[in-house]
Amino acid sequence: MKVLFLGSGTSTGVPVIGCRCEVCTSTDPRNKRLRSSVLVSTHSTKLLVDSGPDLRAQALKFGFTAIDAVIYTHEHLDHVAGFDDLRAFCWERDELLPLYAGEGCLARLREMYPWALAEKQTYRGYVRARCLCHGGAAFRVGDIEVQPVRVIHAAVETYGYVFRSADGASFGYVPDIKELPPESAPMLRGLDALAMDGLCFPPHRTHLCVDETVALMRELKPGRGYITHSGHRLEYSALTAYLPDFISPAYDGLELCL
Ligand SMILES: [Zn+2]
Ligand SMILES: [Zn+2]
Ligand SMILES: [Zn+2]
Repeated sequence: MKVLFLGSGTSTGVPVIGCRCEVCTSTDPRNKRLRSSVLVSTHSTKLLVDSGPDLRAQALKFGFTAIDAVIYTHEHLDHVAGFDDLRAFCWERDELLPLYAGEGCLARLREMYPWALAEKQTYRGYVRARCLCHGGAAFRVGDIEVQPVRVIHAAVETYGYVFRSADGASFGYVPDIKELPPESAPMLRGLDALAMDGLCFPPHRTHLCVDETVALMRELKPGRGYITHSGHRLEYSALTAYLPDFISPAYDGLELCL
């Protein structure tokens, strides 16, 4: 199973428009962060997690042209606003594109994009999708098993996911989280790799800060940990030096082979 980080940034992206800070003006490509998203794939299955506002740029930059499903973490705009660019992934397929999400996120998508998600669709050029509410229960797409993991983040229903391939490789992805409910913790324990929210150094109201993420990862003990959904106060090299050996910052274009 492979995991490609399409974006590792928070909702503003990095650089932030108009900001002249050290990170926003850095020439290190690992300090440039599109909005958070990953592509999880095996030889036969490709899953896109979220369709953020940078989806078009990400598809062009990384050259992916077909996906088997989109899996949504939650309804915040930095995770859904690229929805309309899913059109390009629908034109070449006969079946509807499956969209997996929790109930809250699907309701929001239906409100935001009624022309595409209406019961009776009128135009073939729109996103042609099938909404599948997972309700927190595990599901399978192709040869990848997906376990939703309910987490606490802002006031909206939010999920992280654990992806498992047929050969037993496991990857956990939790880009937006403030708190891990005790009943969700066992699902994220002992994974081969785990990528989690690490927005900044100071504590934040709706996201884990770096020290909280490190503490949580020490408990969950992944083979490797990755910090993602990061803001412009985190400089790649400085953060790498700060983190314990088993955790690295994710960056756009980072690919894991599990
Ligand atoms: Zn900045
Ligand atoms: Zn969010
Ligand atoms: Zn977010």
